[in-house]
Amino acid sequence: MQRSPSAAPPVPAAPRRDLQTTLDGLMDGLAAAAGAEAGALYLLDVDHGDLALVGGSGLPPSALGHRVASGEGLVGQVLATSRSVLSVDATLDPRALRRRQDWEGPDPVRSFLGQPLRAGTVVWGVVELTSRHADAFGPRERVRVATLADAAALLIEQARLAAQPPPAALEQMVVSEDAPLGMLTVNARQRVTSANTALARLLGQPVEALVGRAAMAVLPVLGRPRARDAMEAALRGTPGHLSLVRGADPQGHEQSLGLSFIPLGDPSRGVVGIVILVLDITERARLEAELRAQNARALEARDRLRAVVEVVSHELRTPLTSVLGYARLLHDRLDAPPASRARWGELVLDKARLMARLVDEITDLARLGSANFVLRREAVDLVAFLRETVDDLGTLSDHHRITLGVHVASCHLSIDRDRIAQVLGNLIANAVKYWPEGGEIALTLRRTNERTAAAAVEIGVADRDPGIPPELAEQIFEPFFRGQEGQARQVSGTGLGLAVSKGIVEAHGGRIWMEANPGGGAVFRFSLPEGPRDAGAAVEV
Ligand code: ADP
Repeated sequence: MQRSPSAAPPVPAAPRRDLQTTLDGLMDGLAAAAGAEAGALYLLDVDHGDLALVGGSGLPPSALGHRVASGEGLVGQVLATSRSVLSVDATLDPRALRRRQDWEGPDPVRSFLGQPLRAGTVVWGVVELTSRHADAFGPRERVRVATLADAAALLIEQARLAAQPPPAALEQMVVSEDAPLGMLTVNARQRVTSANTALARLLGQPVEALVGRAAMAVLPVLGRPRARDAMEAALRGTPGHLSLVRGADPQGHEQSLGLSFIPLGDPSRGVVGIVILVLDITERARLEAELRAQNARALEARDRLRAVVEVVSHELRTPLTSVLGYARLLHDRLDAPPASRARWGELVLDKARLMARLVDEITDLARLGSANFVLRREAVDLVAFLRETVDDLGTLSDHHRITLGVHVASCHLSIDRDRIAQVLGNLIANAVKYWPEGGEIALTLRRTNERTAAAAVEIGVADRDPGIPPELAEQIFEPFFRGQEGQARQVSGTGLGLAVSKGIVEAHGGRIWMEANPGGGAVFRFSLPEGPRDAGAAVEV
């Protein structure tokens, strides 16, 4: 072990009264962090080559000045070996030679934890923590003590002449966190004058590479307005603590730090610098942000479910009220003219059909994307299939003419025929519903991305109605979304047709979207992959 008096900071054997308060305060913090009953701080007396007890927690005043030679007892072992020493039961430990009868009391010390205080590789003090219970210091306590001792070493080294209060921020941070505590001292010109190994590790650079550089260059987060203000305030004598500062590390990765700023004063010269304690809470901040996002998603899902329940009950209640009303008329007014009774009967049927469709669509929507939704795929000649569809749906309206434009020679695809017919039915029925003036509804079939992995067929349904505002292009596919003009024109609907269509197309591995028709109106297109891809829906054979 190398212990040169010139490299070690010159430690006064008898600290001044104001430093005494600081040292005792530090030991209180250390003892609390470790759950120890007593703690002692020994500093190296460079003239005698032994240790002198200069501060304590839970010790009688007579303990002050107690001296330990290098290698003597457990404390001396720490100095001699330059490493921390743990004894789970000092009464059985042959290294624990001497008991300090004068201030130990009748119950002997059982657990002992000694931690060296270092300046670089040089040990210039020892922190001792004791308990009357055996095996009192677990790994958690040992990490805390190591971190805090590291911090204490820097503080004492820098502040030994200053009248500092016990650094409360230090206790607060170290007691509540187990992450390594980085520390650096900064002079009045905001240049780094020292740094500990935890900070060097945090920054991925050796300590020597940090010292002498501008603090903001070493730790770019210090350039953030809040951190800069806190650093400048500390340089004017006001300590500060920032529990979360976000920024980037020197490599440009996102970083979240807890920062404490402790002014270092000299009674004769005022503030001469600051100690900055740096706690890397990037991982904790990331987990917290993830948790917040999960919470927000859960709340959103709950709100959506509430909205769905409200809409479903409202959408069902409206036609149900009509069904009940006209059914009552039919029941009570047997004497009414046959024409009226026929009209009431028609309305009952109409509203009941709407309710049935609503129930079907809600069921579809609930099943889509779940294991209960099964595609019954079969090989389908798409050209023939579209011709049949045009024939079937051609009778939907007298005002509309459905045309078919086929831009492929032939096309066979494995699809669920009924489900794709349902999508086409929805799209064409919408063109009819939202374009009562009538005209040509153009159905087209073409290939895209031919001979690539993304090869697909694209089916389009174009109308020339007043169209849909482009900002609603995504929203119209959301469940229960109904456009203004649909409602204004009293067009009956559930707001579920496009959402169900989207689910069916996506289950086939395809995509559905809306474009503005260059000639006015809307074009709905959906693609179906030509390869053997499947978006995860079960395939029934
Ligand atoms: P619904 O037709 O029952 O309201 P959809 O999910 O099928 O439900 O459609 C959602 C909304 O999208 C409609 O309310 C309407 O505003 C708009 N929309 C759908 N298709 C067309 C179309 N061809 N032309 C104009 N608007 C349309």
